[in-house]
Amino acid sequence: MPAEPASFDFSPSVNHRLLMEHTPRTMAFDGADPAAWRRRLRAKVAELLGRRPAERTALNVRSLWRREAAQGTIEKIVFTAERGADVPAFVCLPAKARPPYTWAICVQGHSTGMHNSIAVDREDNSVPIDVPGDRAYALTAMESGLAALCIEQRSFGERREQVQETKSPSQCQVAACQALMLGRTLIGERVWDVDRGIDYLLGRDDVRADRIGVMGNSGGGTTSLFAAATLDRLAWAMPSCYFCTFAASIMSIRHCECNYVPGLLTCAEMADILGTFAPRPVVVVAGQKDDIFPIGATRQAFDELQCIYAAFGAADRCRLVVGPEGHRFYAAPAWQALFELIDGVTPRPA
Ligand SMILES: [Zn+2]
Repeated sequence: MPAEPASFDFSPSVNHRLLMEHTPRTMAFDGADPAAWRRRLRAKVAELLGRRPAERTALNVRSLWRREAAQGTIEKIVFTAERGADVPAFVCLPAKARPPYTWAICVQGHSTGMHNSIAVDREDNSVPIDVPGDRAYALTAMESGLAALCIEQRSFGERREQVQETKSPSQCQVAACQALMLGRTLIGERVWDVDRGIDYLLGRDDVRADRIGVMGNSGGGTTSLFAAATLDRLAWAMPSCYFCTFAASIMSIRHCECNYVPGLLTCAEMADILGTFAPRPVVVVAGQKDDIFPIGATRQAFDELQCIYAAFGAADRCRLVVGPEGHRFYAAPAWQALFELIDGVTPRPA
């Protein structure tokens, strides 16, 4: 008599869930020596993100165009992050502020790319488009008086795979898997590009070096969080629609291949990782109805984050902004919360 199929654990995820629930996280925050913990976990996260390029190659900045917009001046550039990896970027200077500026490094998630950050067509940057979900980050940043450096992330937009033999149905699959074979991760490579963006900014004369931050939604939130956890030159971070628990999000709901870091969950959960950014200001943005980063787990993780920030005497330097809809950015309350944290004031958009 054959047994009922349901009595067997055939699904790999069932085994993984048990492992996840019963594997201790070796570097979870325990409150014993916060400064030493922060140092150790930041180093560990950097290690797990994989091998970094051996050298910082010349940025070789090239300017493609420059134009005036209602919110300020926008220039398109290309810089070289490492050999064989050129990065298109928009450099956005706000009309309503004077240099030196506070800068936001803006990264888009799984979408058609960074053209959304300034609401123009990807193929013809002179054509305006409508961008839903407040994803024209750079425009709202400029309206709030911030300068923005919008970086195209690897596998998205103008950096989507172009080689026919290595194209895949999902945007990131081949690049993410190739990176693993090379001892890297796609997240680590994207964080490297942010790091090189900081190099670019620090070569300009209109930058407040102590006020460079990073922000982005979804896959941009991922990069923002891991950049905050590993790049010491960042002063603030605003990950949107990513911060949650790994257990309730990328380990329980189907997510893109680019979200996975080998071994990470045996060391720490997401609150620990972002907690290593303490005491620097962080605004976590979330959607009440986000179905891939459930709000209940986000609130639970934020409580843990606040405990870590409190241990560094900075409980008031992390904020949670929850918008009423789903997986999107919420510009007005997010920028307001950020300004309250870094300036103690509420900006008045032009
Ligand atoms: Zn991806």
